[in-house]
Amino acid sequence: MAEAPATLNPAQLAAVHHLDGPCLVLAGAGSGKTRVIVHKIARLLQAGLEPRQIAAITFTNKAAAEMRERAKQIVGGRAAKDLAISTFHSLGVRMLKTDGSRLGLKEQFSIFDSDDVLGVLREAGGCNDNAVARSWQWTISLWKNQGLDAEAAARAAADEDQRVAAVVMKRYEERLAAFQAVDFDDLISLPLKLLARDAEAREKWQGTFRHILVDEYQDTNAVQYELLKALVGEHTPFTAVGDDDQSIYGWRGATIENLKRLPQDFPRLKVIPLEQNYRSTGNILRAANNVIAQNPKIYEKKLWSEFGDGEPVRLLECDSEEHEAERAVARIQALRGADARIAWSDFAILYRANHQARIIEQKLRQAQVPYKVSGGQSWFDRAEIKDLCAWLRLLVNPDDDPAFLRAVTTPKRGIGHQTLASLGEFAGKWKVSLFEALFSPTLKTALKGKAIDSLHEFGRYVNALEERARHTRGGEEARKLMLEFLTDIGYERHLHDGEESEKIAASRWSNVVDFVGWIARRAGGDEDRPEQTVLEVAQTIAVIISLAERSEDQDVVTLSTLHASKGLEWPHVVLAGVNEGLLPFRAGDEEMTPERLEEERRLMYVGITRARRTLVVSTLRRRKKGRELVAAVPSRFITEMKLNESTGREDPRERLAKLRAALAAKASAPAPSAD
Ligand code: ATP
Ligand code: MG
Repeated sequence: MAEAPATLNPAQLAAVHHLDGPCLVLAGAGSGKTRVIVHKIARLLQAGLEPRQIAAITFTNKAAAEMRERAKQIVGGRAAKDLAISTFHSLGVRMLKTDGSRLGLKEQFSIFDSDDVLGVLREAGGCNDNAVARSWQWTISLWKNQGLDAEAAARAAADEDQRVAAVVMKRYEERLAAFQAVDFDDLISLPLKLLARDAEAREKWQGTFRHILVDEYQDTNAVQYELLKALVGEHTPFTAVGDDDQSIYGWRGATIENLKRLPQDFPRLKVIPLEQNYRSTGNILRAANNVIAQNPKIYEKKLWSEFGDGEPVRLLECDSEEHEAERAVARIQALRGADARIAWSDFAILYRANHQARIIEQKLRQAQVPYKVSGGQSWFDRAEIKDLCAWLRLLVNPDDDPAFLRAVTTPKRGIGHQTLASLGEFAGKWKVSLFEALFSPTLKTALKGKAIDSLHEFGRYVNALEERARHTRGGEEARKLMLEFLTDIGYERHLHDGEESEKIAASRWSNVVDFVGWIARRAGGDEDRPEQTVLEVAQTIAVIISLAERSEDQDVVTLSTLHASKGLEWPHVVLAGVNEGLLPFRAGDEEMTPERLEEERRLMYVGITRARRTLVVSTLRRRKKGRELVAAVPSRFITEMKLNESTGREDPRERLAKLRAALAAKASAPAPSAD
């Protein structure tokens, strides 16, 4: 998103020019809240503040980087560099780095990630079961986010499980202190403690920033709010922007109460609504408004757009996940085929759960469409998939040295580092590949007999496998060969040995099984494609893999979870898997409370409102459960979008806007432009 110094509407201007007191911009998606923040930064600089005196708080590091970029375009690189743009967590790190010693923390404290925390919890709770440790982790994290320490948690504990968790929390905290470590939640709660207890530190930090701006305010949690309040103190003006309809982190302790408390805690708060949406066409906006209208309203908001109806929102009904992925890819290619100005980066495919990306990735790769996965790891970047791809690459091209090195050590087969180093030296000397070197009669000048035997055994196995792959044709045969190969090399066992957690090992194995399924499907052929041998499939996969290396390019399709899509926008969006169970998401026989359903509905609203020009909502007739296809029910949110409703009931302002748009089109003005 480029940020032109151009226009702001009167309401946006009011927010930008309100410099002296607390200000809340409460407005729907695409109404320019983030734009207000960026322009307000420029205004504050104009008013004489130093860049380092302006703190802007965003929800993710990525959003922080993007905000700095947008600011740079208005205020220039020098000023933008010094702005204190960060997340709550990175601001916390900064505060603890400078003043953590006042809480007894060393300057070089460690920050424990989720895995570290689980390790400590297992030990502190005397329990090796990861599921139990994980549930402690959740409970403790929620407590910390509500501002409770171990003692307070013990008092608040509602049942036996919670009482145990509170005891574990006490031991856990003792251990963190002994390790000079903090967890993610501490990055907020410790700075808060610092400001609450230490008058000198409080004075210092309250004097550091002369204006604080917070984006996505609706997703702050109780402790973050307290930290904001403590930093603001009595005098520092601040600007919070948010949308209660986009609050999607309730499950992580974010609370809408923070919106309600703001006017109570700051009686001088100026609340500014924004009503014009600058992002989406009328049809998209109407669908979004219809969905969110089903949620109880906390703050009434209107949202209208000047862009005219645009194309209707399209509903795609698909036979399976695979079919859905194919159609999404076909649509992207068709739109690009029809208009050469459309870039890959104009597209996003959004989904509720990470695992949904897998099949979409496979289809995109097959079609050679460049893409990136944001908010989750690419299926192809997973270690187990890379392992298997290394083997396939080696079958296709035995001279592929990196593939050789990966395959020969996966799983470990008694061929050590030393042996491989000597083999490499030998190969370098004779200018041959590692694989070729391995069969050289003179290799014994470089390596001991036993090492050579192991290498030969490996080489013979690769050759035999290549031979079989060359002659194995068809889906079922391919599956059989792949499974046999995995048994031969002991891959499942290798995953379990290398992984502390059974659950993670099992999920890795399920990726492997999925990979085998992919190969089998390709080997099986269909109406458009004859059956293939495993080696032929391996060849195309090798090509697909090497093509995908260019994913660093910026011009790529985005795949993203709905959560990670917050705040972003694309001209063309596909929402995938809009089915009951997926969106709204429901794990197993979990009960769907009204609150959970409302949060899922807000996610749907976030998804719809990411689209600028076209939106495709895709739903499955059947979906995979294990290896079976089961009937799938379209999401209730689709009905709620009221896609068939006539557009006759529109706001008179919208009608006027449409007229204007039509006139503008006649004058051949461009449609909604990115700014
Ligand atoms: P979200 O709730 O999704 O975070 P937002 O309210 O933060 O949305 P922005 O991302 O700031 O909205 O703006 C949405 C789009 O509208 C952006 O492309 C932005 O540049 C554009 N926009 C906002 N205000 C104006 C304006 N006054 N004139 C022209 N374009 C605008
Ligand atoms: Mg925004």
